Amino acid sequence: MNRSRRVKILATLGPASSSRDMIHKLAVAGADVFRINMSHASHDVMRETVAAIRNVEDELGYPIGILCDIQGPKHRLGTFENGEIDVAPGDEITLDSDPTPGNNSRVFLPHPEILEAMQPGHRLLVNDGKVQLDVFETGNGWAKARVKSGTWLADRKGVNLPDSELMSGALTEKDVADLDAVLKEDIDWVALSFIQRPEDLAEARKICQGKVGILAKIEKPQAVQRLDEIIDLADAIMVARGDLGVEMPLEQVPSIQKKMIRKCRKAGTPVVVATQMLESMITSPKPTRAEVSDVANAVYEGADAIMLSAESAAGDYPLEAVETMDSIAVAIEKDKGYLSTILSQRPEPEPTGADAISFAAGEIAHTLDLAAIICFTASGSTGLRAARVRPDKPILALSPVRATARRLAILWGTHCVVTPDAKDLDDMVDKACRIAFNEGVARPGERIIISAGVPLRTPGSTNMLRIAYIGSDGKGSVYQSK
Ligand code: PEP
Repeated sequence: MNRSRRVKILATLGPASSSRDMIHKLAVAGADVFRINMSHASHDVMRETVAAIRNVEDELGYPIGILCDIQGPKHRLGTFENGEIDVAPGDEITLDSDPTPGNNSRVFLPHPEILEAMQPGHRLLVNDGKVQLDVFETGNGWAKARVKSGTWLADRKGVNLPDSELMSGALTEKDVADLDAVLKEDIDWVALSFIQRPEDLAEARKICQGKVGILAKIEKPQAVQRLDEIIDLADAIMVARGDLGVEMPLEQVPSIQKKMIRKCRKAGTPVVVATQMLESMITSPKPTRAEVSDVANAVYEGADAIMLSAESAAGDYPLEAVETMDSIAVAIEKDKGYLSTILSQRPEPEPTGADAISFAAGEIAHTLDLAAIICFTASGSTGLRAARVRPDKPILALSPVRATARRLAILWGTHCVVTPDAKDLDDMVDKACRIAFNEGVARPGERIIISAGVPLRTPGSTNMLRIAYIGSDGKGSVYQSK
């Protein structure tokens, strides 16, 4: 498999797409990583889905990434005597800790930490922001709020709190149980929802113990404020525009997206743009013009991956959604302006051997018009640094570690192949040439550039560049400059 696109596609699986047959079709159509949303999937469904993906992976013969998205502290109202109430701007309602069903004057808020954190002036956004309640008075275990906008509240509607920093951690009891279950399976990434602080990642790191990469979903203003620190600690970032667009003014989301992509590219941390990318395809076989532009923008900005949520999980056209995303990305990447746009935001190399070599590999590949950049990477860090450069030639990452190859499936422009360690330098050149040839990234007579760390298998030791010819038999020889 060697896709003719650099940006990767994440497809969320759900009732519309969890069968083995559909997973196979979605992978062939362009899904590089599959997302299992633990807000909806039971442990049994998650296990069956992971097994089906791995089965498809075996059949297709290339690494596929699996991301389990952990729900996080999703907050909800309690219930009402009649299931719902009508409200109007100016109405007052008390949120309290009394679990009995509510009425027009009060409702249970089953989250003591919210009642503790709310202050006069804070907003409560209910049902994806359709109702705004402004808190004007608080006491021990209660808060009085006035309806600012909206007409209707109902049982267990979701609540967002853009202004209140909650002192509870990012993992609920359900999350800890879900993490325990997903870590027993063969998965590559966990996504953490509603994180507020860098410390929120530490708790999950302790539980995950390096078995999987940790992706931080940025969907709260508190996380946006501490973005640099969170990027430093996370293995990947998601611009989670769904909740972010509830918690922050919608018109600010595009510039936050741009800022996040820029910062992640600078740090060399993979970044995923998510939510409503092809939303109309939940019920329509064709996207809107605006959705096509939205996907195109994320591709032009140099995001590592773009994501489908309900479009592939629960929509009527999961396959068409992946095909559409793929064809938009391929078309944009063929545009002459694409690489110059990407390169205009190329970050400077950091003063490390690994970065200097990754940049040099990109430059040499460009200057000599080489067929591909081949990097040997055990931990994945050489692959990450190679992709950070956003070179104009394909990157082929060779790893002896299957988990590394799967994890890098999320990474911009990088095609991963699992292969045993090279025995020595000659074997390394030979492997690089053979695999580049077999994977269709280089033809006989073309040249490639190889980066690696010697001695082999020493993490962080990227220190070598070699140029090699692909021989007529697909094997390699070292290039001698004339
Ligand atoms: C989002 O809010 O954009 C998101 C990706 O999270 P979820 O799908 O869990 O709402």
